[in-house]
Formats: sequence, structure tokens, C-alpha cells
Amino acid sequence: MDLLLIGPPGVGKGTQAARLRQALGVPHLSTGDLLRRHVAEGTRLGAAAAAHMQRGDLVPDELVTEMALGQILGPSCAAGVVLDGFPRTPAQAEALDTALAAHGRRLTAVLHLNAPARTLLRRLTGRRTCGGCGDSYHLDTRKPRTPGRCDSCGQRLVQRTDDTAETARTRLAVHARQTQPLLARYHQAGVLHEVDGCGDVGAITRRLLAAVAPYAAGDQDASRSTGWPTSPVRSSLS
Ligand code: AMP
Repeated sequence: MDLLLIGPPGVGKGTQAARLRQALGVPHLSTGDLLRRHVAEGTRLGAAAAAHMQRGDLVPDELVTEMALGQILGPSCAAGVVLDGFPRTPAQAEALDTALAAHGRRLTAVLHLNAPARTLLRRLTGRRTCGGCGDSYHLDTRKPRTPGRCDSCGQRLVQRTDDTAETARTRLAVHARQTQPLLARYHQAGVLHEVDGCGDVGAITRRLLAAVAPYAAGDQDASRSTGWPTSPVRSSLS
């Protein structure tokens, strides 16, 4: 099962993709995490990507696409993947579709998580991430037991450099301009599901799992199945 979680920065794609990985047993691929690792390790790709990421802009298509497809077509994702943060542009989407088709695969479902801009900004600027294991916390809604320390591994919590208010605003604008147009593509392909990204983390996971349940049961055409509480795609996308 090849799933894509798409949505604006701060909507909870990383958190939810990790929960889907656990629930479905399908690996989670975050291009943001991969790029941050390249930056931390000082690779050539990391050096080329760092300034774009720091500004809140997208890393050029050719750099990200090669990195992402290398993983998606590799052995760890051979039985499927939950994609988080890729594709983010029409060129990336085209490259992904072509590469998957060449291997007899296609995106099973695209889950569009969304929330109001005010909520997204609050989530981004209050987010704190563990420098050790990468676990995510929030100053208001998911406080660690010991302030500033990760519950799981005890390492220091830090604010991502692109989670400041100014860069977060840039990232939301970049998403609206460059990534949101992909929704029409996936709507036309009949694979898009709208999922409300507001509220309790567990409730959001249940909505996502309900949306993919028909596919998990081997039904490749969700529109034929009835009784599943998947949200219909907004008609304004057509
Ligand atoms: P994320 O952790 O998904 O919010 O990604 C953090 C940053 O990594 C983004 O703001 C971009 O600079 C870069 N990035 C991640 N995925 C992509 C992608 N598919 N295309 C271009 N840039 C990306």
C-alpha cells in the first residue's frame, strides 16, 4: 500500500505518519527528516539544501526527487510506504507517478490533512523536537514530564530553526503556492480523501485509518465501498 499524507506544515503529518506506520506496518518516509539528517551530517546534498530549508523555501526538485525515489524504490519500501512531505510540487508528483508506474505501483490513496492557518501557526511555533530521538512536543498541548527534556530518551528539546514565526509563515505560503495545486491532480485520479486535522491526535489517526480501511481490506476502489466514514472530496477541487 503506497499512501501519501499531504497537508500544510504544522498539520501533524509526521506524527500521524508514524502512527500509520505502526498501525499498518508500512514504513514512513519523511523527506524533511531525511534532509535534516543530510544537513546534520554535512553531506553535499545537505549543504545544497540547508539555505533553502532555513528560509522556509523548498529544496530544488532535482535534489529532492533523486533522494526520495532512491528510498521509495529501494528494498525497505518495496511492499509500500507512507509518504510524508513528498511530493510537494507538480514536477515531483509527475516523477513519482512515473517511477511507481514503472514498477507496477501507484499511489493507493492520498490523505489530505488540513487545519485553519491560525492553528497551524500555533502548532509550528510551539513545537519542540528532541535532538536525540526526534520525538515531537508542544509548549501548550504536549508538554514533556521534565521541562526541556525528552520523555523517551532524556535528550534536550530544541526548536527547529524553521519553526520560528516568520519562517513558519513563509512555509505556509510556499505550501499554498506550490503544493496545494497537487490536490486537483489527485482528485482527478480519484485517490484523494479529505481528513480533518483538528482535535485529538488519536481521533485524527482514527479518521485516517477509516479513510484507508477499504484499501487495507483489499478494496482498491473506495468509492465502491459503503459505510466507511471517509470524508468526501470538496467539489471545489474539480
Ligand atoms: P518538513 O519537515 O516536511 O516540514 O520539511 C522541512 C523542509 O525540508 C521544507 O520546508 C523544505 O525546505 C524541505 N523539504 C522537505 N520535503 C521537500 C520536498 N518534497 N521538496 C522540497 N523541499 C522539501
